[in-house]
Amino acid sequence: MQETNKINGTRYLETETGRWLVHDINRPAPPVITPGTLSIQKQAGNAPSDAVVLFDGTDLSGWTTEKGGPAKWIVQNGYMRVVKKAGNIKTKQSFGSCQLHIEFATPSRTTGTSQERGNSGVFLMSTYEVQVLDSYENRTYPDGQCAALYGRAVPLVNACKKTGQWQSYDIIFHRPIFKNNKVVRKATFTVFHNGVLVQDHVILQGGTDWIDEHTISNYSPHADKLPLMLQDHDNPVRYRNIWIRELKD
Ligand code: MG
Repeated sequence: MQETNKINGTRYLETETGRWLVHDINRPAPPVITPGTLSIQKQAGNAPSDAVVLFDGTDLSGWTTEKGGPAKWIVQNGYMRVVKKAGNIKTKQSFGSCQLHIEFATPSRTTGTSQERGNSGVFLMSTYEVQVLDSYENRTYPDGQCAALYGRAVPLVNACKKTGQWQSYDIIFHRPIFKNNKVVRKATFTVFHNGVLVQDHVILQGGTDWIDEHTISNYSPHADKLPLMLQDHDNPVRYRNIWIRELKD
């Protein structure tokens, strides 16, 4: 379990591998593994019968910009794609605790490194980011690599597919509960990346917003249900087959 301690004004994380700053490039990266074969390499999967389908490959009618205008990402060949500067997009519907499936592919040709390679993000409740990044042979700070709970939790292993290939997240999320403007139950995340467990019922200790080089946000109270949001981080990341099943808190 990770705790954040303040020592001489600097926040450190006490972890199983030692004491690290948030976004610390010197923190040991998780082991790299090769995930098993997924049928989604050939075509998008589909949703179970009781799921709310958020994107079936045809249109963005269920999505808006952050301000509520028409979503301007491109839809083609059964996927949606980030359009640089078009901004984040979010679902019209709001959700709390849920099971989420989403397939994504980072650009097959890219010149950036670290956080500038295939960066996007899946924000549960528009707030809590499961990082999307091309972490195939691309070093960055481990709490910001693909499948990290951004700035909060390093994935157990690096299960990335090769650059440009289709990948999947299956996320089980229990929302935080707030009372009197204080968090009385923290959020939890279980995440499978390409079918491999990478976040094992992790208790999210606070927010995932980048504040500065070595600082992360705290919880800040919000509604019980909020839209799912996908990030425009200037990289043309693709998404497809997005569905959600609401869970009891
Ligand atoms: Mg991101």
